[in-house]
Amino acid sequence: MSETTHQQKARKAVYPGSFDPITNGHVDIIKRGMKVFDSLLIAVLENPKKKPLFSSEERVSMIQELFADQKNTEIKAFHGLLVEFAKNNDAKVVIRGLRAISDFENEFQMALMNMKLDPEIETFFMMPNLSYSFLSSKLVKEIFMLGGCLKDLVPKQVEHRLRIKFKNKHPSLNL
Ligand code: ADP
Repeated sequence: MSETTHQQKARKAVYPGSFDPITNGHVDIIKRGMKVFDSLLIAVLENPKKKPLFSSEERVSMIQELFADQKNTEIKAFHGLLVEFAKNNDAKVVIRGLRAISDFENEFQMALMNMKLDPEIETFFMMPNLSYSFLSSKLVKEIFMLGGCLKDLVPKQVEHRLRIKFKNKHPSLNL
């Protein structure tokens, strides 16, 4: 492999996650990632075991809508081994977001396992702005169901999709 090819590949990063739904914390990490890497592949995990609120197609399309004007971002659904997905998509870097110490243990374990599976793939950890370090998709769904305000927590389009989804699922709720 030539030096140039190697360098080009190193500049593409995969940002994997469930994104159920995407929050402003994820958006913050994506924007930071775009400053560091030439191109970003946002990989939406298809994991029916997690019983996501939104289908992988819905999650992909929500993210596509948000980053439609960014030429250097691509959004794909994936299942199976992340390192295989990264390799098949010519990416050598995986980005993960670190919120609090509580994220660390899981992320550390996963990064080391991925390193064992494919030593060519590096994991980069990025921290969001402090104001997003308490934010998770799970919390967003809970707050929404309880009628709380999602301002500053998710993009407007996502709040709209949540409203439609919950209306269909729970017609009796006044959201
Ligand atoms: P999970 O892997 O728990 O399903 P997500 O799919 O929601 O998590 O998130 C994908 C990645 O984004 C993970 O690395 C996670 O730590 C990170 N992340 C999630 N929410 C935030 C946030 N508010 N700020 C920074 N990183 C985040």
